[in-house]
Amino acid sequence: MKCVFCNAATEEKMTDYKEVGTHLGRFKAEVCTKCGEIFFDSETAAKIQARSKELGLFGLAKRAKVAEVGNSIAIRVPKRLAEFVGLKKGQEVLITPEEKNRLSIEV
Ligand SMILES: [Zn+2]
Repeated sequence: MKCVFCNAATEEKMTDYKEVGTHLGRFKAEVCTKCGEIFFDSETAAKIQARSKELGLFGLAKRAKVAEVGNSIAIRVPKRLAEFVGLKKGQEVLITPEEKNRLSIEV
């Protein structure tokens, strides 16, 4: 196939796949020989999603609203996500701006 981003040829390779820092396995993929973009067919994508669900990783990303608390703002972290990263009430975290529109919270 051709890469949808740069139009170069792709080649079939077994590729390691990680989600939220967890190795899900090696999967068959088409990898662009120029830009390195990885494409999975729908069957492989379904396998990856099933593995992600099995490991409790699927759907951890959630939308949240920003609330105002006194002079600060607060963002509620969904319980499942908090448990996944080991975040507890009263714990101190390090909040770092990663980019203009991205924060990182180190637990
Ligand atoms: Zn490409």
